[in-house]
Amino acid sequence: MRIFAAGIGTETNSFSPIPTGIDSFREYLWFEPGTHPAEAHFFTGPLVAARARAQREGHELIEGLHAFAAPAGPTTARAWAELRERLLEELAAALPVDVVLLSLHGAMIAEDCADCEGDLLAAVRARVGPKTIVAAELDPHCHLTEQMRANADLLVLYKEYPHTDTLERAHELVDLALRAASGAIRPVMAMADCRMLALFHTPREPVRGFVDRMKALEGRNGILSVSLAHGFPWGDVADCTAKVLVIADHDANRAQELAISLAREVRAMRGNTTEPVLGLEEGLARALKSPRRPIVIADTADNAGGGAPSDSTFMLERMLALGLEDVCLGPLWDPVAVRFCHLAGLGARLRLRVGGKVGPASGPPLDVEAEVIGLARGAVQRFGTGRTRLGDVAAIRIGGIEVLLNSIRTQAFDPALFTDHGISVHDKKLVVVKSMQHFYAGFKPLAAEVLWVNGPGALDQDFTRLSYRHLRRPIWPLDPPEVAFADAIGG
Ligand SMILES: [Zn+2]
Repeated sequence: MRIFAAGIGTETNSFSPIPTGIDSFREYLWFEPGTHPAEAHFFTGPLVAARARAQREGHELIEGLHAFAAPAGPTTARAWAELRERLLEELAAALPVDVVLLSLHGAMIAEDCADCEGDLLAAVRARVGPKTIVAAELDPHCHLTEQMRANADLLVLYKEYPHTDTLERAHELVDLALRAASGAIRPVMAMADCRMLALFHTPREPVRGFVDRMKALEGRNGILSVSLAHGFPWGDVADCTAKVLVIADHDANRAQELAISLAREVRAMRGNTTEPVLGLEEGLARALKSPRRPIVIADTADNAGGGAPSDSTFMLERMLALGLEDVCLGPLWDPVAVRFCHLAGLGARLRLRVGGKVGPASGPPLDVEAEVIGLARGAVQRFGTGRTRLGDVAAIRIGGIEVLLNSIRTQAFDPALFTDHGISVHDKKLVVVKSMQHFYAGFKPLAAEVLWVNGPGALDQDFTRLSYRHLRRPIWPLDPPEVAFADAIGG
């Protein structure tokens, strides 16, 4: 078999003030053909899985560009055109191929394109014709569209949130793609729309049981793959909604029936798919009342992984006002403050303006007396089998609070974010992480308790407060269930 593998992606937050240009991709994840390392990055599982199969079974793998940008606002038209053309040119040069294997995200919105992945898959299909298998791995925070379904043979989504199964799903995708290309199976895909805006925490019931059931359905009765697209509620596009996707062998009716029955189950879980989310004051009060330590608090509204600036000061300001001790917080994105700390040097004490720089959702900048307790250049953070870049970092102490400042915007994934730079976590009273849910895999093992706080910030979890312009209605919770679910699925 001849396989072409490439990847383009980002998760677009329509409400984020941070532009996504070509440098956003170059800075975050950019592997020219043939330069990807042996271990998979978060978004590049299909390439690594394809390499393994190619080596084992003698397939010919043609590697294309893999480029991903940290979640932020819409991708510029120029960046999108450059990436799209680049991928299509590489594909044209690789033809003929039996399999096109794409690493996508599924929630990329460009200034001039609301459905980048659908557009890309259609362009790929137009070039390869109907016989080549077109397969893509997607993040569950994707907007599944009919254009995507119609132009791909196989779409496989990660099932876990935190996304701890990206490589596992990539191996499944490659396996299905090779079987389809050899004629052993003929995949057909069906979708059912849950008409819901929601987050789904998969370690927690009832979502845990639903994910386990999806897995148990696969590989039996002609069902090849089952996915739940959570949707990304901060992407203001018509198809922003949760959807169930089923791939069956030959049998489109079977796929459609199962998708509908699972979508009904998803509707029944509404309002019960995440951990309880507390307000900022409520979260801090509850943490301080607990005799246990450390309490891990997720500052979910400032999660860079969802396009937030990661420089909001609401939590830090409040904790300083309370005079808290034995607290750490990070990562707080502030390239200017990092630079000043590097200039001042390790051990320096300086007046420093921290955070609050990107927009109103960042809160006010804080002017503090800081002690520099850790410095590093080009730091990285582990997540799953891969690494994400933190850029240059500075660990500072402000009174009893230690803060990890970074220069490449990203969320908290792993306690080494702190411990690599001289900030201990086990002995802290509070460990505040800027992250929505991905922190959970790394921080849960050390946490006496985990609290999710929806403070002020760019990623408000109260979707009724967001000013959507393109989202298709009706949809729960913006519309009542009897209106949102008045379709053939019911529930
Ligand atoms: Zn995701």
